[in-house]
Amino acid sequence: MSTTTLKGQPFDRPVLDSMLRRRMFYSPSFEIYGGVAGLYDYGPPGCALLNNIVNLWRKHFILEEDMLEVDCTALTPAEVLKTSGHVDKFADWMCKDPKNGDIMRADHFVEQILEARLKGDKDARGVKVEEKEADPKKKKKKVKGIEAVKLDDSVVQEYEEILARIDNYNGEELGDLITKYVMKNPETGVIPEKPVEFNLMFQASIGPSSNMPGYLRPETAQGQFLNFAKLLEFNNQQMPFASASIGKSFRNEISPRAGLIRVREFLMAEIEHYVDPEGGKKHERFEEVKDIELVLLNRHTQLAGKTDVKKVAIGQAVADGTVDNETLGYFLARIQLFLAKIGVDQSKVRFRQHMANEMAHYAADCWDAELQTSYGWIECVGCADRSAYDLTVHANKTGAPLMVRERLDIPISHEEWIIELNKKTFGPAFKKDGKTVEAAVQAIPKEKREVLAQELASNGTIVVEVEGVGNGKVEIKKDLIVAIEKRTRVQNTREYTPNVIEPSFGLGRILYALLEQNYWTRTSDDPAAETRGTAYCKKVLSFPPIVAPTKVLLVPLSNHESFKPLLKKMSHKLRVLGVSSKIDDSGASIGKRYSRNDELGTPLGITIDFQSLSDDTFTLRDRDSTKQVRADTDKIMAAIKSLVDGSKAWAEIEKELPVFEGQEVEAVAIR
Ligand code: AMP
Repeated sequence: MSTTTLKGQPFDRPVLDSMLRRRMFYSPSFEIYGGVAGLYDYGPPGCALLNNIVNLWRKHFILEEDMLEVDCTALTPAEVLKTSGHVDKFADWMCKDPKNGDIMRADHFVEQILEARLKGDKDARGVKVEEKEADPKKKKKKVKGIEAVKLDDSVVQEYEEILARIDNYNGEELGDLITKYVMKNPETGVIPEKPVEFNLMFQASIGPSSNMPGYLRPETAQGQFLNFAKLLEFNNQQMPFASASIGKSFRNEISPRAGLIRVREFLMAEIEHYVDPEGGKKHERFEEVKDIELVLLNRHTQLAGKTDVKKVAIGQAVADGTVDNETLGYFLARIQLFLAKIGVDQSKVRFRQHMANEMAHYAADCWDAELQTSYGWIECVGCADRSAYDLTVHANKTGAPLMVRERLDIPISHEEWIIELNKKTFGPAFKKDGKTVEAAVQAIPKEKREVLAQELASNGTIVVEVEGVGNGKVEIKKDLIVAIEKRTRVQNTREYTPNVIEPSFGLGRILYALLEQNYWTRTSDDPAAETRGTAYCKKVLSFPPIVAPTKVLLVPLSNHESFKPLLKKMSHKLRVLGVSSKIDDSGASIGKRYSRNDELGTPLGITIDFQSLSDDTFTLRDRDSTKQVRADTDKIMAAIKSLVDGSKAWAEIEKELPVFEGQEVEAVAIR
């Protein structure tokens, strides 16, 4: 998939990838041993960026909504994941190439082949694609499996429809597609074998005797569910409420190939919001978000083989039933607000509804927040209505009361027919069969009891069917029965198993999307620069200050002793403000020092120059425009504070403080 940078320039992924490695955002784990696919280590700026995203997530969700945070273990007994359904159903379809033994994820294989054929068709028709426009001088690399072959219009349409529905096929259907469309592995030229299921969980063995099989958790959710009764108690039995957890999850992905997008160990942030299923799953704060517009791709559109989206206010989407209920809608809107806050490009966000087959085994309705990257539309947040599935299965298995008992404000009266047996005479009359007969009597449906009451009154006896006792029919005489009559029962409490709405964030994917979407290159404007040999192409990451790994770069124009006190003073003031800063007092030119930090996404720079020594004023530089203002310490600090907390934009600062027109001057070393 071709994309452009945020300045509309052609996007070159290998260039960004190599910069991210060079600047230690992240790099393959165990690299000096050759690395392991799908495992990555984060370096200093990567950690800082991730931590900033996590901190904002905590503020935006946990603090804002009083959620109950828990931190549960990743190592999970197999019994728990058997009960939750993960042992049987948490699997992807894989197919094997019989020639070279390559294992591929079946849906990704179909997708890759069809996309390659569609691209070949475009090439054959001479349709310009963005990669070609990107750099006309660059020789187009021939991609394996992409032949410039023109397809029939009807075939193009079939392929497009399959791609729109790709997440809805099961293994057999994927196998049929591979055979029907003769999809050969470009590496070997042969058709892969039929898809088989592969469970994505990493097995573990807990303890030395290895008699407790376990798994590394594939999601943080189960730990939250198992703590439900304690959390409800902690919350003073108040409903609704939400628990939340931030922690690592593990999935043995079949063929992880897309950097941070598909990894085998990743940081998740998950919310389990518990809601009463009665009354339409309303949300008390829905009013606050109802006018927020979301871009929606619903399941009907996908099933029709299309990918057209609609921009709709969430209030409208819930009202017309596109989104099932207010609570689900509330969280979709809150997810969008969070993504906007951390700097995700809002034109590259859409919410895609799951199709029936695609839905996880526990889900009743599910929407993914997808972000557009050079890898295509990537699911970064899943938001599922898990109904009462998890709490019910764990309660059934363990007998734990994973439900809510509420006192009713107005008790409910029920009229019902009861059969009261005479305990004293009943047992001795039936001896060893007593319990079985009693159970059969109490199992008599309510609607049949009135007839039995009449039978007892007229015959002085009733006949009940009891499997396994005598000939299957047992006569019960009047002296064994106290009464069969209609009584009024008053119900003071109501019991129910809450339904769960679960927003589930993969923070690594969001971080990667943020890197791609905020990346661009600064080039020399002057067309003559190339001839003069002064042309440049500098890489910039334009993170919003709120998530930037470091907020301020301190740059002394000279490393002379006289600059040290000012440097110390400014970094102390920034520390007091709680703003992260770094000093670059290397001998490199000012321009070079700034561009090194543009690569790290540092939004602001303070230059301490010779004038600073005499009048205590400094310049403040904006990373994106490279514009500077000049003011005294207090004004500079106030400006930084408002830029970092997001209350002001650079344009406002430029209006408030005198613009500094001086060049980014080379350092003059005074020795
Ligand atoms: P799921 O439980 O499959 O809906 O996943 C929840 C979220 O976890 C997704 O929206 C992704 O952001 C993230 N995620 C799932 N699998 C991976 C993976 N292999 N690598 C990175 N992130 C993942």
